[in-house]
Amino acid sequence: MRSDTRAEVQRFMRGLVRRNEGELEFHQAVQEVAESIVPFILDHQAYRDARILERLTEPDRVVIFRVVWEDDQHRVRVNRAWRVQFNNCIGPYKGGLRFHPSVNLSILKFLGFEQIFKNSLTGLPMGGGKGGSNFDPKGKSSREVERFCKSMMIELHRHIGEDTDVPAGDIGVGAREISYLFGQYLRLENRYAGILTGKGLSFGGSLVRTEATGYGCVYFCENMLNHVGESLKGKSVSISGSGNVAIYAAQKCITLGAKVLTLSDSSGFIHIEGGLDRDMLEFVRELKEVRRGRISEVAEQFDQVTFHPDARPWKVPVDIALPCATQNELGAEDAKMLVGNGVRAVCEGANMPTELAGAHIFLDAKVLFGPGKAANAGGVAVSGLEQSQNALRLSWSASEVDSRLQTIMHEIHRTCVSFGDEGGFVNYVKGANIGGFRKVADAMLAYGIY
Ligand code: NDP
Repeated sequence: MRSDTRAEVQRFMRGLVRRNEGELEFHQAVQEVAESIVPFILDHQAYRDARILERLTEPDRVVIFRVVWEDDQHRVRVNRAWRVQFNNCIGPYKGGLRFHPSVNLSILKFLGFEQIFKNSLTGLPMGGGKGGSNFDPKGKSSREVERFCKSMMIELHRHIGEDTDVPAGDIGVGAREISYLFGQYLRLENRYAGILTGKGLSFGGSLVRTEATGYGCVYFCENMLNHVGESLKGKSVSISGSGNVAIYAAQKCITLGAKVLTLSDSSGFIHIEGGLDRDMLEFVRELKEVRRGRISEVAEQFDQVTFHPDARPWKVPVDIALPCATQNELGAEDAKMLVGNGVRAVCEGANMPTELAGAHIFLDAKVLFGPGKAANAGGVAVSGLEQSQNALRLSWSASEVDSRLQTIMHEIHRTCVSFGDEGGFVNYVKGANIGGFRKVADAMLAYGIY
């Protein structure tokens, strides 16, 4: 980066940090974008004069509210919830709800900010938003989760709508939670509308939505490899996480002939010597989606699987790494280890799983590095397709949705290549940032000053 550009990034970031004190995850997400966008803006006077980046880093609004509910022991419990409506210039706000004790405003602003670019990259008319609560669903009974969701919707329903803001799932919010939230919306509003995505198939959900983020991530990875004349077939893969994204990324890797060597959860990772097979994967799916158990149980059940408590999977030598758990789960030391072991591609199923220093290490080593805002856009893309099906009042077949998903991931890859090519090596971070930015920035310019 040229020294005047670096100085401009630093000047911009100083202002952002001052205005958003202590919001470390948000600073990190903006820094990553600013490193690509500031040089682009310096070459495009109109964006600079209209202060598009300053405007884009300020959410349209943030709603903060109290959620009161009663646990199984009849104790009154109080949680905090947020909805960050970041930018609706190209469509209604769209982005998931996260239930996790770590949730705070900084995390939701980073996620909402990233969502603006991701949604733009899909080519569908969706703005960026995110929400959630510091409620911890782990260890809670289904009745407790139901009471929490119903209480949350009592406030949330005022702020969402099919043309306003359409939330979905994220960490801790799967099919069960979306169903409780949607049922409560119906009771409160007395109208059926596609105000949430990730719904059950019998009440407006889309086929392939459950699989979409994991499948999409693997499609993106395959596109990156194909672009350099390679493919996933025969490659070894480490995956972190064992939730929605990880499970279906693993399934698609197996289908494409790759060998999945790891999965994890917050208690540690499993190393599967011979590679994950379909029986094991079905065991993991049932363990996580139905019984909500711990990943260590896989090692108790199957030979040749070892559990490594309190550790991440990145020291296992692999060709491909797919971080699919959570933010900042892959640091600089992990990145050095992966590069040292000859990793070929890293493709982010999770949002911002790689620390900034780790991303720089991958790019400097010319590793194919697919950032989450491009690589995991398949989930929100199929959510967008769910909204279209709801509006049309019809349901497309699985093969139709999957084929649209593959086309969208291919197009996102093409956009990244066209904006990120650096003399033969594709910098996908730059490509995704500029590709996502342009459409939103042009809409903001067209609307004038507001
Ligand atoms: P799930 O809740 O289904 O799974 C999350 C997985 O990550 C679990 O295995 C969980 O383990 C693990 N995990 C969570 N927090 C930590 C932590 N602090 N340290 C280690 N492991 C952790 O979530 P999803 O699969 O839906 O989401 C995973 C990531 O993908 C998130 O970053 C999310 O924002 C992103 N994403 C999800 C999309 C979707 O459609 N679901 C769309 C786009 C992005 P444990 O069970 O022990 O907590």
